[in-house]
Amino acid sequence: MTTLHPAPPVDGDAAAQLAVWPASTTRLPGGDLAVGGVPLGELADRYDTPVYLLDEEEVRTRCRAYRAAFPDAGIHYAAKAFLCRALAHWVEEEGLGLDVCSAGELELAVATGFPAERIVLHGNAKSPRDIDTALRLGVGRIVIDSPSEIARLAAAVAPGQRQDVMVRVVPGVAAGAHDAIRTGTEDQKFGMSTGDGYAQHAIARILDQPRLRLTGLHCHLGSQIADVRPYLTAVRRMVGLLARIRESHGVLLPELDLGGGHAVPYRPGEAALDVPGLARRLRAELEEACAAARLPVPRLLLEPGRAITGPAGVAVYRVLSVKQTAGTVFAAVDGGMCDNPRPALYGVRYAPRLVGRASRTEDRPTTVVGRLCEAGDVLAEDVPLPADLHPGDLLAVPVAGAYHLSMASVQNLVGRPPVVAVGCGRSRLLVRRETLADVRARDIGL
Ligand SMILES: *Cc1c(COP(=O)(O)O)cnc(C)c1O
Repeated sequence: MTTLHPAPPVDGDAAAQLAVWPASTTRLPGGDLAVGGVPLGELADRYDTPVYLLDEEEVRTRCRAYRAAFPDAGIHYAAKAFLCRALAHWVEEEGLGLDVCSAGELELAVATGFPAERIVLHGNAKSPRDIDTALRLGVGRIVIDSPSEIARLAAAVAPGQRQDVMVRVVPGVAAGAHDAIRTGTEDQKFGMSTGDGYAQHAIARILDQPRLRLTGLHCHLGSQIADVRPYLTAVRRMVGLLARIRESHGVLLPELDLGGGHAVPYRPGEAALDVPGLARRLRAELEEACAAARLPVPRLLLEPGRAITGPAGVAVYRVLSVKQTAGTVFAAVDGGMCDNPRPALYGVRYAPRLVGRASRTEDRPTTVVGRLCEAGDVLAEDVPLPADLHPGDLLAVPVAGAYHLSMASVQNLVGRPPVVAVGCGRSRLLVRRETLADVRARDIGL
């Protein structure tokens, strides 16, 4: 597509506004933005709206940053943030593993060539199909989340075979941006607690199963954690449990999986988790705790999801209507909670901006809403947008690469948007738009 001329110089204020955009983002002379060298106006014309773009280089750079910060650790991208075949390729080529939580995610990844031994299967309620698929495809590790899974899984492993498993422990650490995404505390559905002895009991039973090999402990604290300290607390507790397992069973577990949850900013000024800082302090904490317990240092596994793909994605919508009701300016776009349920689910705040043209008018507080038939379909409340915003304009929402399309629905039969990869001034379709024909293909009774 378009080849770009060097971007005009960006002043400090404008640069700060683009802080949450992919690093390749540039401002074009006409007022549009380009990501991966592709002007967003052109992208909208070519693929129609709403459309999601993924900046391939941004994804790869983020994968490399994790590998550089944690050269000895296993980094597994959490597929539930977003998965498609191209993304599985990029992540695989960058040397990461994958963390999946269904037979569907697993099959898609393996069918596209992802090595099954680099995949970890999670889930608090694994179906028989999840377990059969994992064993058939030879998944690297299965994380056991409840006692009832132990015998069921062991019985499904073929005679003479052994499946590597981990056990998900509740570390009793409260962290994460919202109750719905806090998974490290006692009062949620994931994992087994040490406080009531559930986890210890499960570990003893796993160690008794000749067809299961326990490689280590797993915990995941939650999502959008910007502070390193909860991870350090979790490390100390997990090492304490490793020491008790050695005392009770004489077994040294070689792996410790600390899950994901690393925060990214959604709006300028918000904090990111400092990944190199996390690496440094985790290593120090782990070495110190293991030395005190006279344990060998286990190999770390990490499972970032959002921090790999979130900031690499941008959603582009077209404005369908602008009106003022009781003093509030509403700008309605051609997508909404059907492609991004996060504001409705967790009250997440975004910073949409006008793209495709420049505006010389002042900003005014505007509430960006979607097109779904629900008053709760609000994408961004009271955000500054130009006063001359009008139908036909394009609005772009940065940090749209994680937990948007992976949680999208066919509400109101609007159809899910396409995903387009951008880079080096080119774009290519990764996932096409969902059509009425797709919906009708499933609707087979009368
Ligand atoms: C969701 C999840 C992750 C990834 O969380 P992010 O906040 O996207 O980093 C990692 N591990 C497990 C077990 C999860 O459930």
